[in-house]
Amino acid sequence: MKNPFQGKEIWFLTGSQHLYGEETLRQVADQSQNVVETLNAAEDIPVRIVWKPTLTDSESILQTILDAGSDDNVIGVIAWMHTFSPAKMWIRGLDALRKPLLHLNTQDDAQLPWGTIDMDFMNLNQAAHGDREFGYILTRMGIPRVTVVGHASEERVTARIGNWARAAAGISEARSLRMVRFGDNMRNVAVTEGDKTEAEIVFGTSVNTWGVNDLVAAVEEVKDSDVDELIEEYQELYEIQEELLPGGDRHDSLRYAAKQEIAMRGFLEAAGAWAFTDTFEDLGALKQLPGLAVQRLMADGYGFGAEGDWKTGLLIRIAKVMGYGLPGGASLMEDYCYNMVPGKEKILGAHMLEVCPSLTSAKPKMEIHELGIGNRHDPVRLVFDTDPGPGVVLAWSDLRDRFRLTANTVDVVEPDEPLPNLPVARAVWEPHPDLNTSATCWLTAGAAHHTVLSTQIDVQVWEDFARLAGVELAVIDKETTVRDFEQSLRWNAVYHRINQKF
Ligand code: MN
Repeated sequence: MKNPFQGKEIWFLTGSQHLYGEETLRQVADQSQNVVETLNAAEDIPVRIVWKPTLTDSESILQTILDAGSDDNVIGVIAWMHTFSPAKMWIRGLDALRKPLLHLNTQDDAQLPWGTIDMDFMNLNQAAHGDREFGYILTRMGIPRVTVVGHASEERVTARIGNWARAAAGISEARSLRMVRFGDNMRNVAVTEGDKTEAEIVFGTSVNTWGVNDLVAAVEEVKDSDVDELIEEYQELYEIQEELLPGGDRHDSLRYAAKQEIAMRGFLEAAGAWAFTDTFEDLGALKQLPGLAVQRLMADGYGFGAEGDWKTGLLIRIAKVMGYGLPGGASLMEDYCYNMVPGKEKILGAHMLEVCPSLTSAKPKMEIHELGIGNRHDPVRLVFDTDPGPGVVLAWSDLRDRFRLTANTVDVVEPDEPLPNLPVARAVWEPHPDLNTSATCWLTAGAAHHTVLSTQIDVQVWEDFARLAGVELAVIDKETTVRDFEQSLRWNAVYHRINQKF
C-alpha cells in the first residue's frame, strides 16, 4: 500500500511573549528546535515534525494556525508553551484551529540544575506554568486535544506522540475519503444502515452509490493481456489450487476473478475512492461475488464493507492508514462462531470471502469453492489463518442521535485445531477481559457484527481518533467490568446529548 505519511507534516508551535527580550527569545527558538530534532529522530513518530518560528503575539498565532488549516499536507499541530505565553493571545488562533492538536508539556533539560539554577534559568524554563496557562484556555474553549507530559528523549513520550500522529493521519484521511457503493445495503439488516450525510459532517467522508452494472461494463472491457499479467503475479504470491491454474478445468473462473480485480481497481481510481462496498443481493450481471478482488484491494490499502456496509468499509481504510508501516494488518471481520468450552473461550471471526491477507505472513492458498449465497458461479478466494498477536476489533453503529464506536482489545491466537474444511480466511481470538464480559458489553453497546480487526495499532490510536473527531468510543479491555461499562454508556449518552451542536 502507498505510504500515507509521505509528504505529510506536523507543525510544532512554540509559545512565548515579547516581555523576555531578544536574547531569551533566541534561546527559546534554539531549545524548541532542539526538541523538534529529538522528536524527529524517534522511530515511533511516523510523520515529519516541522518547527515554526516562536509565536509571541495574537496576530502571528492566528496567521500560523490559519496557514496550518489551509495546507492539505499539515495533518496536525503540536503546541508547547516554552516560557509564559499569556493565553488570551491564543483565543483568535484556537478559534480558527482546523487540525488535530497535541499539547506537549516538556522542557529542554530533563534535569533541574540544582546547584547552579538562578533567576535567568528559571525565567527561561517555565513550561511548568506556561503550559498550565495554555491548558486553561484549551479547556475553557472546549478544544479537543491529546496532552503529553515528559522529556522528548523518553520513549514513552515519543510513542505517545506517535499514536496521536497516527490518529491525526486517520482524521486527515477521513476528511478526504470517498466511498463507492456498488448497490445498497443488504435487505432488512439494521446495523449496517446509517446517516451518510451525518458521516460527511462528522468525519468529512463522502459516501455515494453506483449501479453495479457500471462495474459489469468495466469488467467486460478488461483486456486478456492484462489478465495474463495479473495471473502471473498471483502465481508468485499464492499457492494456487491445481484446477485454477492455466490449463486447469476452472482456470476461466480465475480469469474472471482477475477481470473483476482490474475493473474494480480502475473504477475506484477513476472515482478517487479508497473505500467501497458491494452486496450479494445486487450483483447485476457479475458472474461471481467478488472475493479475491476484494481481498487483494484491501491488501493494497482499500477499505471494504460487505453487504453495503459503508461504515465498516470506511473504518478499514482509516485503520490501514493509521497502522501503516507497523507489523500486522487490518481487515473486515465478522464475529462468526464461539468456542464456549469453559476456560477455552474464543471467537472465530471470518466472512463469506472477504478477509484481507495483510493479516497473515504466510503464503495464502488460492481456492475455489461453492458459495450458497448470492446465486452466482463459485467464487475464487484466498484462504489463510491470521497471525497470532495482539489486536483490536472496532465497530461503528448509528444510534440515531449520534455515532458510537465500540472497541474490544483481543489476543489473536492459533485455532485449537486445524480447520481443514473451512474454505475461507479467518481469525481466532480471545477477547479481553473474557468472552462473557466482552460479548455482554458488546451487545449492551449495540455494537455491530461487522468490524475492522487491526493487528497493527494500539487501542489508544482509536481513542485519540474518536476524541479528535468528537465521537463516542466505548472500550472493552482487560480492565472492563459489565457494571462499569453499562454505567459509562449511560454517562456517555448524557455527555453526547448535552454536547450536541444543534
Ligand atoms: Mn457480513
